[in-house]
Amino acid sequence: MTEPVIVSRPGAGTMAIPLVFDSPHSGLEYPADMKPSLATNILRRSEDTFVDQLFKGVDQLGAVMVEATFPRCYIDPNRTTEDIEITALADAWTRTVKPSIKTNRGTGLVWTKIGGVHPIYDRKLTAAEVQGRIDNYWAPYHETLAAETERLYADFGGVWHINCHSMPARGDETTEDGPVDRADFVLGDRDGTTCAAAFTETVRDFLAGRGYDVAVNWPMKGVELVRKHGRPDENRHSLQIEINRRLYMDEIALTKNDRYDETAAVIADMTAAIATFVRSNAAV
Ligand SMILES: [Zn+2]
Repeated sequence: MTEPVIVSRPGAGTMAIPLVFDSPHSGLEYPADMKPSLATNILRRSEDTFVDQLFKGVDQLGAVMVEATFPRCYIDPNRTTEDIEITALADAWTRTVKPSIKTNRGTGLVWTKIGGVHPIYDRKLTAAEVQGRIDNYWAPYHETLAAETERLYADFGGVWHINCHSMPARGDETTEDGPVDRADFVLGDRDGTTCAAAFTETVRDFLAGRGYDVAVNWPMKGVELVRKHGRPDENRHSLQIEINRRLYMDEIALTKNDRYDETAAVIADMTAAIATFVRSNAAV
């Protein structure tokens, strides 16, 4: 089995800063025991395709990058382990269950639908199967991300985290925003609770200054990863960034479009601006 998580840290000669990026939804290695019945091209619409590539190179800024190698529809690191869809299981789940707004759409901890309508499986999953995905994929991802942030927090007394995602260009009938076009970027700090306002504003101002339309906390406000890592009163800051896929890819063919290079250059400049913000706030 491939390692479920890859970590890139700054190399020798690069000054480390307390900045961690994570890309939980760009993994492409579908485990053999997943056995989906849905066509791969539809299954793959759940991925945050190319997000790991768009943020590549942040280690050269002194930051850390944590990436999942497994796909988010197999098990989603951005959900709690209590976000279980009981009706999708063949047998009893004996641990706590706390479904979220995502669960009914089939996009809880273990996804059962793509786009709220395409069933992934023609069978029910066993509780043991779900527990195995938690133990072998979800938990190592969370442990790795926590270890990196704790290490930097111990060294610097503060840590900044960017949770990297992409979103379909439009919502649909099953999403909170409905079938409407989305902003170029959506930033999420769970209504100002997961980072200092200045962190969100720095990123928003950078992107708006490049002419992009930027929404904050709508229709996505951040889910489990920013909730878990963002405690601004302890100088731990966590912000979710959603990039609109129309800025860099063809969502049906799953290929880069003619705007990819321009968007990748903007993301590189944005991460450099974030690193500058972190250096001044962490006094490194
Ligand atoms: Zn995502």
